[in-house]
Parts: sequence; C-alpha cells; structure tokens
Amino acid sequence: MTTQRWPLGPDATIGILGGGQLGRMLALAAARLGFRCHVFCPDSHSPAFDVVHSVTEADYLDMAALDRFAGDVDVVTYEFENVPAETATFLSARKPVLPDPKVLAITQDRLTEKELVKSLGIGTAKFAAVDSPSDLTGALTSVGQPAVLKTRRFGYDGKGQLMIRNGGDPVEMFNDLGGQPQILEAYVPFEREISVVAARGRDGRIECFDVIENEHQEHILKTSRVPANVTPAVAAEARRIAERIAEAFNYVGVLAVEMFVVKEGAGHAVLVNEIAPRVHNSGHWTIDGASVSQFEQHIRAVAGLPLGNPIRRGRIEMTNLLGAEVEDAAKWLEIPGAAVHLYGKTAVRAGRKMGHVTQVFPE
Ligand code: AMP
Repeated sequence: MTTQRWPLGPDATIGILGGGQLGRMLALAAARLGFRCHVFCPDSHSPAFDVVHSVTEADYLDMAALDRFAGDVDVVTYEFENVPAETATFLSARKPVLPDPKVLAITQDRLTEKELVKSLGIGTAKFAAVDSPSDLTGALTSVGQPAVLKTRRFGYDGKGQLMIRNGGDPVEMFNDLGGQPQILEAYVPFEREISVVAARGRDGRIECFDVIENEHQEHILKTSRVPANVTPAVAAEARRIAERIAEAFNYVGVLAVEMFVVKEGAGHAVLVNEIAPRVHNSGHWTIDGASVSQFEQHIRAVAGLPLGNPIRRGRIEMTNLLGAEVEDAAKWLEIPGAAVHLYGKTAVRAGRKMGHVTQVFPE
C-alpha cells in the first residue's frame, strides 16, 4: 500500500461501503467539500447510487470487485456496520479504511460491544451470554425479569429481539431467535432515551453534537429532539461516555452512542444501549440545524481535514417518515421552515425509513 498523504486533495475519491440513505447523505456532504464518492453496495436500488460519481454493484465478498474498488479510491469508509469483517480486512491491505475495521468487529456483536463498554467503567443493562437453552435458564436467574433476549449479530430496529416477562420455554425462546448466539439483557425502565453523535479527527480532537432525545415507535426511531430534556449533569455525563468510547477505539470519523437515562436515587444514571460506528439517524437534524452536519464531520475526519465546532441553530425536532408516511411529504413541504429529505426509495414497506423532516425553532 502506498502511503496516503493527509489531508486528501481536491481530486480525491472517497469509497463508501453501503448504499443506503446514510451513504447518500455522506456523498452529498463530500460533494460540498469537493470530493467524489464511489459507493459499493450489492443492492441495485441503493439510494446512494443516484448521487455519486461511481458505483460498484457487487457482493461484499466479491474480491475482484473489491480490488477494483480499492484501486479507484483514496480512502474507504462505511455507512453500514454489518459489512463482513473479511471485506474490511481485504480493503485495509490496499487503502486506509476508517474507522478501523477492528471497531466493526467489536460493534457487530452485542456481547463484545457491551463487554468493551463495561471494561471502560461505563454502565450498561445487566447482561449475560446465551449460547444454548440451558444458558438462557441460567441467564434469566442472573439477569432477572423482565429481560430482552437479542441475537448477538445482525439485529437492528428491534429485529432479532424478544421481550421476556414471565419466563417461558427456554428451548422455544432460544429457537424463536434462530438458535444463533444471543445475549440476555435486563429490561431498563428508562425515563428517556438519548444519543450522542460524536466526531473524532485524525489528530484526536473530538467534537460532540448536543445531546439528542429519541422517541421510538415499535423499536424504530420516530422523533429526535434537541436539546434533550435532561439535567446539565446528565448531558455532561452522556458526552463524556461518547468521548471515552471514541478514545478507546482510537476512532476516526463519526460514531453514535445510544443511551438510556434511568432514575437513580435523587439523580439519574446513564447506561449505554448500543454503539453505532457510523453516522446515525438521530443525527440527521444536523444537516439543517447545525453549522456543520454529522455527514460533513465524518467526511472531514476520514479526509484528514479539521473538524468543525458545531453550532446548533435553534430548538430542533426531526421526524422520520416511515413506510406510507412518505405520502405526507407534500403536506410537510407546505409547512414553513420544514426541511424535507426524501431518500429516493421506491418500495414502501411498513416501518421502512423513506425520508425525514427537520424543523428548527427559535429557542
Ligand atoms: P436496539 O436494537 O438494541 O437499539 O433496541 C431498539 C430499542 O428497543 C431501543 O431503542 C429501546 O427502545 C428498546 N430496548 C432495547 N433494549 C432494551 C433494554 N434492555 N431495556 C429497555 N428497552 C430496550
């Protein structure tokens, strides 16, 4: 591999693994900074394909296609964290891959992710590994009930999750989640859900966006509000958690940490639910609501450019358009000040993220 010179020059091409709406918004931010993007994705209907200079439509394990892709780009990043580890490793022998593929390996597995968080002295729900029905019986005793059984890998938006309130047949529950490796987590009686979107540059500088409060509908993000309705102490703790995780990974790029706020005595505790090693839905408001967006921060970081210090433009409400709600887009377009973003997806499915709307109100 030839040594990459940083920052990337204006003729550089940024390779993006994954072609969803996150890739689309990353590519638009990259274009604003004068970069081209090449998106690699197996799906011919990828929303990011519509807005980039080059595309490769191939399987993530098509090594010949990956080799050609590597030859065309100056740096590789991703918008989709379930890219096979082999893919990231293969590419990192040819071009810089940011964030480091070892971050993918840890965050792809809910168990290794929670173990890492715990090892940093940061709180999580009580959890136990479940590799068999008899493990589940033991885990229900150690973790307690209610609890949430989750697949260790490939879960998102509540897929691969089972709520357990009153016991049940462990063989049936284990098999309901496909009999694959699982994790049992105590159900957290949270007061609210928040996230911190943080960017870390090649120089180690970290910039966090203001703490976001998230409301889910059937496990899918529906609304994000900023600032979160939390005490200054909770907000400071949430930022510190995101910074500690970014530092522990020697991270370069944007990452999001999803957290639960729970009542504890007279105050609150902040527990980490999940780390997303990429730009995140709860940060979409930053396009219209901040002086620099999460997408631009990520592109700046992987290009070796200085990060921005994000300044929020007001009180924010971001609403996801899920499934058939995309048909309301025309109504949203009539609302003064509403910024409507549509992802160009043609197939409408229940709960599918079709677009979002950001409203910025005076504080
Ligand atoms: P996840 O896929 O782990 O991000 O979970 C999606 C959503 O399910 C979260 O945002 C929470 O609303 C809910 N959830 C997941 N795990 C737990 C838990 N241990 N306790 C309470 N709610 C949870």
